[in-house]
Amino acid sequence: MAKIRGHVSIKIENCKGCELCIEECPQHSLEMSLKINQNGYHYAVLVEDNCTGCINCALVCPEAIITVYRESKKKKEPVAVISNVTENIKISLDIN
Ligand code: SF4
Ligand code: SF4
Repeated sequence: MAKIRGHVSIKIENCKGCELCIEECPQHSLEMSLKINQNGYHYAVLVEDNCTGCINCALVCPEAIITVYRESKKKKEPVAVISNVTENIKISLDIN
């Protein structure tokens, strides 16, 4: 079976620098930036090209600012979108 390639998009200006995503990434694809965002937090960034799209980082992010993509022959679509964390939690997963 072909190895799945993933990619993450992080809304860095909303990152609180908790590092939970970094601890939960089995690929060690994420690191904290040395720079800080507008709120004064170091933020998580994708530093390795080995993301598998496992969605661990998106699931643990308390700010729900990580969107995970998986490459496929189909059009690139998000596989994990978590929103409305302060009210009704909505989680969309495509883990085929
Ligand atoms: S989707 Fe998985 S492999 Fe990719 S950065 Fe997030 S935790 Fe790491
Ligand atoms: S889990 Fe979310 S808030 Fe915490 S460091 Fe990662 S991206 Fe930032």
